[in-house]
Amino acid sequence: MKEPENNGEDGDFATRGIHSGENTCSRTGALKAPVYYASSFEFEGVEDGAQKCEDFHAGYCYTRQSNPSQTVFEGKIAELEEAEAALAFATGTGAVSGLLLHHLTPGDHVIADKTTYSSTHYVLENLLGKFGVNTSFIDTGDLEKVEEAIREETELIYIESPANPTIKIIDIEGIADLGRKHSILTAIDSTFATPYLQSPLNLGMDVVIHSATKYIGGHSDAMGGVLAGSQKMMDNIRHDTLKNIGAVISPRNAYIFSRGLETLEVRMKKHCRSARKIAGFFKEHEKIKNVNYPGLESHPGHENARKQMTDYGGMISFEVKGGLEAGKKVMENVELCTLAVDLGHVKTLIEHPASMTHWYVDREQRLESGITDGLVRISIGLEDAENIREDLEQALASL
Ligand SMILES: *Cc1c(COP(=O)(O)O)cnc(C)c1O
Repeated sequence: MKEPENNGEDGDFATRGIHSGENTCSRTGALKAPVYYASSFEFEGVEDGAQKCEDFHAGYCYTRQSNPSQTVFEGKIAELEEAEAALAFATGTGAVSGLLLHHLTPGDHVIADKTTYSSTHYVLENLLGKFGVNTSFIDTGDLEKVEEAIREETELIYIESPANPTIKIIDIEGIADLGRKHSILTAIDSTFATPYLQSPLNLGMDVVIHSATKYIGGHSDAMGGVLAGSQKMMDNIRHDTLKNIGAVISPRNAYIFSRGLETLEVRMKKHCRSARKIAGFFKEHEKIKNVNYPGLESHPGHENARKQMTDYGGMISFEVKGGLEAGKKVMENVELCTLAVDLGHVKTLIEHPASMTHWYVDREQRLESGITDGLVRISIGLEDAENIREDLEQALASL
């Protein structure tokens, strides 16, 4: 397996993850900032109140606008993504729709990938579609096709990398260059990579999105999402779609994610190390037709992954020989691996889209987005890699 061009060994990511974001208590000296369980904040007087209600930079007013626990989390994300500012939401989906609702107006055109995350696809196609926003769902891995799809009214190019279900890798810098050339906003859902594996803003993207529910939290116990980008844009989105629509993160969850960022690097290193081993095991397995893992030279996005990521991540998908029935059989026979649709957690989670998450999707449409009958997706957890391998080996032996 060829190493990424920058494997991240000499960076200071962990230090920034731990020390950024005002995360101690100046009043008591507690090494952790308290969780501010408060829906609102007392004003010093009428003028103070007027100012804080108008401008969240002046201080706290009401938690739907901002809260000190949220500020710590946003500060850490901004630092790790090297962004001017970040903005937290109640879920990843809240962050995505916050950005879309803020940026798009009737008549606008959007370019997104045909395998865009299901809720994002739904908001673009069904909800914003209703208000006259038109989206072309294409293969954003093909830069020529992306440029061809650009129209006068195109206001957003939206990508995900790595993306479901084939762990597809998009040329982030190529997309950012197209956006700049045509003055179109570019946004990336970087959930699978986390701030540790890639820095899209440094590659020229305008906005980065994470579902914090996944690797940032890492323990399946909280939901959240976050955007990072320019201060001006984050301020405007805070006003438009956080304060006035209200997908606000709870102080408790903001704390959980701040804590998650402190251990993100060590967790990601193990996720990546184990995923490499398991991908190698799958590659040699006689019951497996095809393995999608960006670390493998056979993966179509391998060269881009080497260039833009510090490691290849913890997500793998693979296609078992024997189609639908074989996929179901693997699901029925795993013991250590947990059947669930989530990802990025301590436990290894496995799912078979054709019979689980996508069973209701028309087969032709499912195949079109790369979800073949025998495709299995696995999020490699933090258990010992050898135990994960043994479990998969016995489950595959049932085929
Ligand atoms: C889970 C996920 C989301 C949605 O995040 P929630 O926190 O579940 O709302 C968006 N994009 C990707 C790539 C995801 O995996």
